[in-house]
Order: sequence, then structure tokens, then C-alpha cells
Amino acid sequence: MSKNLDRKLRHIHNYPKRGIDFIDITTVLKNAQDFHDLIAELQAACADLNFDKIVAAEARGFIIGSALAYIMQKGFVPVRKAGKLPAAIYKKTYKLEYGESTIEMHKDALQAGERVLFVDDLLAIGGTAEAACELIESAGAEVAGVLFFVELAGLNGRQRLTKYDVRSLYLVH
Ligand code: AMP
Repeated sequence: MSKNLDRKLRHIHNYPKRGIDFIDITTVLKNAQDFHDLIAELQAACADLNFDKIVAAEARGFIIGSALAYIMQKGFVPVRKAGKLPAAIYKKTYKLEYGESTIEMHKDALQAGERVLFVDDLLAIGGTAEAACELIESAGAEVAGVLFFVELAGLNGRQRLTKYDVRSLYLVH
């Protein structure tokens, strides 16, 4: 049963730029029961998917992606911002709701044919997830699903991810 965690999210208007309604998940994470409920809801939402590893993007994706990987006994692969990973990398530059970003993943993080769940805190215009899925596919791995805590309604992020099985716990307006 849903715990209505969307009601606990904090909206910060005009952050980090004018016109952006920033969804702050720290108001959920700081409460032990809410954090536990969030990971349980994510686990339930992907229970029917067959995957070997979770890939998540810096930085908020790490918080929920690693907790989910731990509880589901999956491997965890970090996708990081440019210049942070020490070994050979795949790299992708893409547009954000605010600005532009480059993400990277270790070339040896995934094996060809492995099935991967991409997890992030929030789906906005979908650039991060799309770029991360391209990194996953660069390694020859397969995107088994894409899972978000929050999906921003009205930004049509899903349109960039039509190839994938996209799931989100809460649609937020
Ligand atoms: P996008 O690539 O546009 O789907 O943006 C998703 C990524 O940017 C996620 O990792 C979010 O953490 C962050 N993000 C984008 N827009 C917002 C927002 N309005 N509130 C909070 N985080 C956001």
C-alpha cells in the first residue's frame, strides 16, 4: 500500500534557477520510517523485473540506488559526473532541465548481456536517464527497466525513454 511519500517532499521554488520547482527528497530521507518505506516501495515496483545490477547517477541516485541494490542483493554501478572515475570510461553529454551535464561510467562496470535497472530520484525532461541508458548500452548490457521515486508531470520525460520499461512511484505536479 502506498505510504503517500509524495506528501513529504519539499518543493523549493526558483531553485537552482528562476522557474524551476525543485523537489527536495531530503525531507523523506531524514525520517527512518519514510526512508525504509521508500526503498520498500521501489523494491515492490521492480520485483517482477529480471536484472543483475543497478546503475544510478550521482548524486541523489546513489542514495536510493545503493540502498535498493543492497536490499535486493544486486551489484551497484555508479554513473558519475565528468572527471570523477579513475579507470577507463564511457562518456555522454546531455541537456538538463537546467543547464547541461556530462556523465561517465567505467567501461568494465557491466558485462555484455547483463541486465540492468537504472534508478534515479526524479524524472524531469529525461536527459539523465536517456544518457545513462546509452552508457549501459555502450557496454553491451541491456536496460531491464528504469525506475524513479518521482516523475514530474508535464515535462514528458517519458517521451525520451519510450524504448524502455519506465516506472515511477509518484507523479508530482
Ligand atoms: P532530467 O535529466 O531532466 O530528467 O533530470 C533528472 C535529474 O536532475 C535527476 O537526477 C534529478 O535529481 C535532477 N533534477 C532535475 N529537475 C529537478 C527538479 N525539478 N527537482 C529536483 N531534481 C531535479
